Amino acid sequence: MSRSAAVGGAAIPRVVVLAGGVGGSRFALGVREALSRRAGAAAPESAASFTVVVNTGDDLWLSGVRLQPDVDSLLYALAGVNDTERGWGRAGDTERVNRELQAWGAGWPWFTLGDLDLGTHLARTGWLREGLTPSQVLERMSRRWPLGARLLPMTDAEVDTQVVLGDGTSMHFQEWWTRHRAALTPVWFEAPGIAAARPAPGVVEAIAAADVVLIAPSNPVVSVGPILAVPGIRDALRTTGAAVVGVSPVIGGRVVRGMADVCLTAIGVETSATAVAAHYGARSEAGLLDAWLIAEEDAESAADISRLGIRTVVAPLWMRDIPSSAALAEAALATAQL
Ligand code: GDP
Ligand code: CA
Repeated sequence: MSRSAAVGGAAIPRVVVLAGGVGGSRFALGVREALSRRAGAAAPESAASFTVVVNTGDDLWLSGVRLQPDVDSLLYALAGVNDTERGWGRAGDTERVNRELQAWGAGWPWFTLGDLDLGTHLARTGWLREGLTPSQVLERMSRRWPLGARLLPMTDAEVDTQVVLGDGTSMHFQEWWTRHRAALTPVWFEAPGIAAARPAPGVVEAIAAADVVLIAPSNPVVSVGPILAVPGIRDALRTTGAAVVGVSPVIGGRVVRGMADVCLTAIGVETSATAVAAHYGARSEAGLLDAWLIAEEDAESAADISRLGIRTVVAPLWMRDIPSSAALAEAALATAQL
């Protein structure tokens, strides 16, 4: 019996994606497109079989509101209201409130909050104050637009990532990333409270019921890392009957769009498709991956990665637009024979 969901009369696979913000949302748009094609239906039809588990390690409190940068990146991208030029926030946003906050000396002068974006944060914070959990808030926010995916935070616990520096001091990940542009050498990343955190409702169940789990080409350290650090998620990946297929965020020995190489260096992982695959590990060797997609530029590493016990597939890894992201998603699904 197939575990695929029957949607619009056609069987489409149940897919779970583990995702961070920018790489995660580009990839999610591609997966949604690929699933919609299979269903022969408009994007919203894929929601029944497509779950995105989103990193919440970037979350923070600022000026009294709760920010969830990666969650919002996914929400805005799937809704089609994201600013594609800038790469974050809402299209056509303005900064009136931000200027007023800065005039008050409130918040962080180097961290811009758009007016529309602040509307999201105020709505979220209000509902949290009323007692909703972060996953209940996200469920409510997901009703506004036809997303074609179910978004789940990795956990409902607050486990904001801290960056530990060489002098023993630490700061919130967003301060290190946005203010210091990752220029202060980190020695470690911490997520206080994560040992006691639980996966958000539905996360473990979705992984268990999936036909394939895809690890997006997101930052392995501060996007995928926090998801895997939530107790229970790694076990769910190890025991699911689904194939676990990862997509390399490293192309030709470089991370694209971002500063993930600094994060990899800090945890002692080389910036290469091979080293990131080894970091996730082969499922047959107590790791996570059944298969790993690498770029044509890294094709010569395929034999090394296969020797780790991970099936290696060379695919076009650049996500420039929906068609190229969908082609990558198709390659990932094909790798899982779906
Ligand atoms: P963040 O949370 O906004 O930092 O975004 P993610 O963690 O989801 O993604 C950041 C990572 O995505 C970067 O480290 C890049 O290596 C990777 N990335 C961005 N664009 C592409 C792309 O077109 N192809 C691939 N394979 N990886 C990409
Ligand atoms: Ca992020």
